[in-house]
Amino acid sequence: MEKVIIVGSGCAGLTAAIYAARANLSPLVLEGRQPGGQLSTTTLVENFPGFPDGIDGPQLIMNMHAQAEKFGSRFSYSEATGFEPMNSHVRLQIDGEQWLETQSLIIASGASAKWLGLQNEEKMIGHGLTSCATCDGAFYRNVPVAVVGGGDSAAEEALFLTRFASKVYLIHRRDKLRASKIMAERVQRCDKIEPIWNSVIARYVPDQKGEMAAVDLRDVSTQEERRLPVACVFVAIGHEPNAKPYAGKLEMDGEGYLVTKKLVESKYPGVFIAGDVADRVYKQAITAAGAGCAAAMEAEKYLSGLE
Ligand code: NAP
Repeated sequence: MEKVIIVGSGCAGLTAAIYAARANLSPLVLEGRQPGGQLSTTTLVENFPGFPDGIDGPQLIMNMHAQAEKFGSRFSYSEATGFEPMNSHVRLQIDGEQWLETQSLIIASGASAKWLGLQNEEKMIGHGLTSCATCDGAFYRNVPVAVVGGGDSAAEEALFLTRFASKVYLIHRRDKLRASKIMAERVQRCDKIEPIWNSVIARYVPDQKGEMAAVDLRDVSTQEERRLPVACVFVAIGHEPNAKPYAGKLEMDGEGYLVTKKLVESKYPGVFIAGDVADRVYKQAITAAGAGCAAAMEAEKYLSGLE
């Protein structure tokens, strides 16, 4: 029987691991399908406190990993696929096969950005294709960029990007924003944002170095295509929390995010939730790290209560 299993190895999971390991709980961290979480796919992180010159996302995550390991965390390249809360412990299925038993569980499996599903998409991520304006917007000064989506995220990203870009095209597949009225009005009032209605990206067009140079737009009513030069595309069509194994067992909101009581508690004693799998508002590395810390401290308190 494990004392603490941590599902996920992004900011929330690794911070939980540092705290749990320093409390001598020797946590087992399941690294998941994307070890390191969303930070592992970003470039320079300029807003994580303590790094005035910024730090590479993968480096930041490697540092956290080393810190967690140094204090006795154990790591496994596996994924949680099933979850069964029992009276006094939790059963957790790994990679669709083996079941592990643990006295406490920290779910920090994060959220994955939704992408458009275009042919060369995976290759372009990090080369002028991103899902995070806060992370990457400042790299695109005085050049035209595009945001895809029509919700609050797209509106927020577009407004944020006007601080840097020469022009922000907001590409939306309909002729009306889904965003809240106040956000939609802000977008409409902003001269730097040019909405492109009823349009989708048909393909990304890289330059010779493989960096984004343009997109081919398709008008969904006429099917006509045209090329739009942009240095970066910010896809903001929503996030998908990685919470499938807990469906029907833990409380979820309408979009599949796990719901917490207080900051990190679930309805089961000993089961805690931290980071983007439960956060549809802030979605920042530092807020995920904070929740990871809280979850580990709650797990420690829960385990001491059992003794
Ligand atoms: P969202 O509200 O679900 O909007 C997603 C947008 O992307 C929609 O406009 C949708 O188009 C479009 N879209 C989805 N799939 C697409 C595809 N394959 N191709 C092209 N377009 C696609 O997601 P969100 O903007 O991330 O917001 C999620 C939640 O967080 C919302 O409740 C939102 O209010 C909240 N949020 C709030 C704030 C804030 O208050 N400041 C900021 C961010 C997010 P359709 O409109 O045609 O469906």
